[in-house]
Amino acid sequence: MQTEAPLYDVLNYLPEGILMVDERGVILFANEAFSEMVGYENDILLGLNILSLLADIDVFTACIAKVMNEGKSLDAETDFLHSDGRIIQAIKSVRMIRHNEHIRFFVNIRNLSDINRLNKELRLSKELIEYQAHELSTLLNSKNQELEEILGSIDEVIWYIDNQTLSLRYVNNAVEGVFGFTKETFLADHSLWQQQIYPDDRELVKMFFETLRPGQSQEIRFRILRNDGESRWLNSRIHHHPTLKLFIGITSDITSSKTQSDEIAFLAYHDPLTLLPNRAKLKRQLENRFEHSSSTPFALLFLDLDNFKNINDTMGHEVGDKILIEVSRRILATAGEHDFCARFGGDEFVVLLQDTDISHVNMFAERMIQMFKRPFRVKEIDFFLSTSIGIVLYPQDAQNGEDLIKHADTAMYEAKNKGKNQFVYYHSSMQRAIHNFLYIESLVRDGLRQNLFELYFQPLIDSKTLRLEGYEALMRLPHPTEGFVSPDIFITVAETNGDILLIGEVVLRQACDFITSVRQLCSQPFFVAINISSKQLHQMHFAQDLLDYLKERDIPPSFLKVELTESAVMENIDIAAVQLNKLKEGGVRIALDDFGTGYSSFAYLAQLPIDTLKIDKSFILTLFEVNSNRHIVEAMSNLAHVLGMSVTAEGVEESEHFDFLIQNKIDTLQGYHLSRPLPRNVILQKLQNSDPYFTPLPV
Ligand code: C2E
Ligand code: CA
Ligand code: CA
Repeated sequence: MQTEAPLYDVLNYLPEGILMVDERGVILFANEAFSEMVGYENDILLGLNILSLLADIDVFTACIAKVMNEGKSLDAETDFLHSDGRIIQAIKSVRMIRHNEHIRFFVNIRNLSDINRLNKELRLSKELIEYQAHELSTLLNSKNQELEEILGSIDEVIWYIDNQTLSLRYVNNAVEGVFGFTKETFLADHSLWQQQIYPDDRELVKMFFETLRPGQSQEIRFRILRNDGESRWLNSRIHHHPTLKLFIGITSDITSSKTQSDEIAFLAYHDPLTLLPNRAKLKRQLENRFEHSSSTPFALLFLDLDNFKNINDTMGHEVGDKILIEVSRRILATAGEHDFCARFGGDEFVVLLQDTDISHVNMFAERMIQMFKRPFRVKEIDFFLSTSIGIVLYPQDAQNGEDLIKHADTAMYEAKNKGKNQFVYYHSSMQRAIHNFLYIESLVRDGLRQNLFELYFQPLIDSKTLRLEGYEALMRLPHPTEGFVSPDIFITVAETNGDILLIGEVVLRQACDFITSVRQLCSQPFFVAINISSKQLHQMHFAQDLLDYLKERDIPPSFLKVELTESAVMENIDIAAVQLNKLKEGGVRIALDDFGTGYSSFAYLAQLPIDTLKIDKSFILTLFEVNSNRHIVEAMSNLAHVLGMSVTAEGVEESEHFDFLIQNKIDTLQGYHLSRPLPRNVILQKLQNSDPYFTPLPV
C-alpha cells in the first residue's frame, strides 16, 4: 500500500482533534475526532470560523497573536462550545505554518475530560502535547505532501502497521526522538519496532493487537528500548481500521521522573477509566494461576453490556464513561474479595470466580444479571442496561488463557443470540467461528456474490380490525451449516465494513419485487417496511435514489415504509431531517424503530416527520415480568398519539401481550403470536389460495 492513500484517514482516526485554520480563523480542515468533540458534522465545520466554536474568544485571539509574534507553538486551555450548548474543556496547542504566501495555523485539541483520567502529573507532562516550532520552509504543492509535512512535524509518533503482519507501513519523524533510530531506518526494516519492545512487554503488545477488533480503539502502555539501551515508557492510542486493514496509532513518550514510574506501571496494567485491572493484567493473573496452582479449578465469566452502543451514540462518551464506572463499581461490589475482576475492553468485563460449585456459579451469574436491573442514573436520567454473560470452567473447558477467553466470548455471543440479558455456559458444540468478524465478512461477501440474501416478510396487523396492514422486510443470510446467520451479527459486520450499502440495494430490489407480486394478487392497500441503517441514511442521495427507484419500478411510494432507529437518526440529526423530509414529501412513510432503547431527546425527534413509533420488543417481551413496562408502553402510546403518530408493538409473543396491547390502543401488532417472518413464496402461495397466514383471524 502506498503511503498517500490513508493519510487523510490517519488524521481522521487520530483520537485527538486536529484543525487547520487560516489567519482569519476559517476552518480549512477538521478531523473526525474534532467533529465528534464539538458535535458538528465535518461538512458543516469546513468554512466555519473557529471563533464561533469558542466559549472565550479572547483567549484564542491572544494565543494566535502570540504565536504570530513569536513564531512559536503554544498551548493553552480553551473551552469549546458543543453544538448542544455544552462547554467542552480542552487543551489546544497552536502552531504556525507558512505555506506559500499563506499562513496556516495547525491546532491540536485534546479533550480535557479524557486527559483528566490520566493522573495529574501525566496530564501536565508537556511532552504529551507540546509542539516544537520549526517552520516549514519547503513549498508544499500537493495536499498529501502538506499532510505528510504536518504529520512529520508533530511531536508525537504517528504510525500505521498492517493488521495481519504487523509490519510498519508509515511512521513520522517523531519516532527518532523516542527510539533513537531514524524514520528511514524503521521504514527499511518493517519489524524493527517489534524488536525494540522491552522483552517483558512483548507478549502484552502481541495480545493487544490480537484482541483489538476491527472498528475498536484502545489505549496501551508498554516499554521500549532505545538504540542506546535505555528503556522508555510509551502510551499509544490505537485504532483498528476495518476497511484499510491497518492499526493506526499515536504514541507519546510518557517516561518522566522515577517517582512517576510506579504510577505508570500501575496504569500499564489498569484501565484508566474504571481503575480495574486491564486485559494485560488479566493475562498475567491467569498465567500466575497456571504456574502456581494449576490444579485449582475456577470459573471465568465474560460480560458484555447489551445495547451499550446505543447510549454512547445517543448520549455521548461522557455519559457512557460514567455508566462504565458505575458498572465496574457494581461488579466489584457483587464479587467476593478473592474473585478477580477486569475490564477487558470497551463494554466487556471479565470475572474470575474462585468457587466453581455449579450452584454457586449460577447464583453469582444470576446476581450479575439482577444487579443491572437497578437503573444507572447519570445527569438525572435513568439508563436501563442489561448484560449477556458467557461462562467457561477451568480445567474442563480450556487449559490456557487464550482458549478460556475465546470460549467465554463464544458463550457470551450465544447468550446474545438467545435474546441477551442472560448467561450461557460454554459447550464444545458451539460454533467458535460464528461471530468472528473476518469469517462473517466472508459469508456476507459470498452471500452478495452468489445472491444468497433473501428477504423474509413478517405480517403487521391492525389491532382494531385484525386485518393485515403491511409487512416488515427482514433479511436472511443462510449459514453453510447452521441454518441462518443472525441478522444482528451480519448487519453489524456489514455496517462496519460498508457492505450494508450493497445489502440495502438487495433489500430494496427484493421488497419491490414482493410489492409488485402481492399487488397482482390482491387489490387491498398494504405496505412493506424496510430497515435502513445509519450508513444508508447518511448517503447524500439516499432519499432521492429511493424515490427514483420506486418510480422506475412503477410502485406508488405509499407501498413503502422505512424503519430507522433513534441512534441512526441522532448520529446526525440535520442530515437525517433533510432525508426524512424528502422521503415524506415523496409519500414514503417513516417509522422510528426500537423506540425506548435510545436516550435521545424526544423534543428533537418530535420535529421529524415520523408516522409511527415502534416500541422495542424488549418492553413487550417482559410486559408482565417488569412492572414498569406496562406503564412505559402506555405512556409511549399516549405520547405518540398526542403527536399524531401511530404506534406499533413488536415482539408480541403471547396472547396476554396481545390482549393488553389491544386494550391500550396500540395501533399495530407484530410478533410470533401472530406470525413469524415468512419467505416470500409462502406468503404469495397463501394469498393465492386465500389461506390464512396469521392468527388470530380477522374479525
Ligand atoms: P428489528 O428491525 O427490530 O426487527 C425485528 C426483529 O424482531 C426481527 O429479528 C424479528 O424476527 C424479531 N421478532 C419479531 N417478532 C418477534 C417476537 O414475537 N419475539 C421475538 N423474540 N422476536 C420477534 P431479526 O429478523 O433477527 O432481525 C434483527 C435485526 O436485524 C432487526 O431488528 C434489524 O435491526 C436488523 N435487520 C434485519 N433485516 C435487516 C435489513 O434488511 N436491513 C437492515 N439495515 N437491518 C436489518
Ligand atoms: Ca425494524
Ligand atoms: Ca425493532
